[in-house]
Amino acid sequence: MARSCGHCGRTIEEKEYGVVNLKDGQCVCKDCADQTRILYPYRYVKELRESTIAKEYTKLKNEAIYGMTVGTNRIDPLTEMTLEEFKSALEESQKAAEAQAALYDRAKAVIEADHVRKYYINIGSSEKPKYNKRKVYGVFGKVIHGELITGAEVVVSHKDRDYSAKIWELQDWDGTGHTGMPVGKATAGKLVNMLFEQEMNFVFPGDTLIVR
Ligand SMILES: [Zn+2]
Repeated sequence: MARSCGHCGRTIEEKEYGVVNLKDGQCVCKDCADQTRILYPYRYVKELRESTIAKEYTKLKNEAIYGMTVGTNRIDPLTEMTLEEFKSALEESQKAAEAQAALYDRAKAVIEADHVRKYYINIGSSEKPKYNKRKVYGVFGKVIHGELITGAEVVVSHKDRDYSAKIWELQDWDGTGHTGMPVGKATAGKLVNMLFEQEMNFVFPGDTLIVR
């Protein structure tokens, strides 16, 4: 039986990405769920888990950590809500978003930077890797206000001057895997990786990036 989003009513495709199953058996689509992330973000809990791969590779058999690996559990607070509770959470979140908008006068989006990662792009094959001179940098962070889109220009201000760069690819990083999901936009409360085709050595943890 086809399901539909309990909030916007849109038909949900089979295996659609980011659908949230609520406590009462109803569900909401990713777009609707994302509007509440400003107040109800995903939480991540690290735990030690048994791993057969780790067992093969761990040499220090006397260590307590033998055969274990660190896994990530993602906790979604929305799954603890009924549809009614989700609707009031959404209203509450919209008010919080308005308050943030008043705080960040006219900014289209505001992101708090976490860390910067440099990517080496392999233009060869997996057997014969060949690394390009082209630089790709990922800036991880959290959207704290507004809507961030691919192609947006982010600005960070330091004492000496303003620095800016254009987002080449935007990835939703709210996942438990090792890769992000490329997306066209991300709203407040989402963890993102912004990829840039230029060096991003002017971004530091805790910096505020602004899209005007
Ligand atoms: Zn929806």
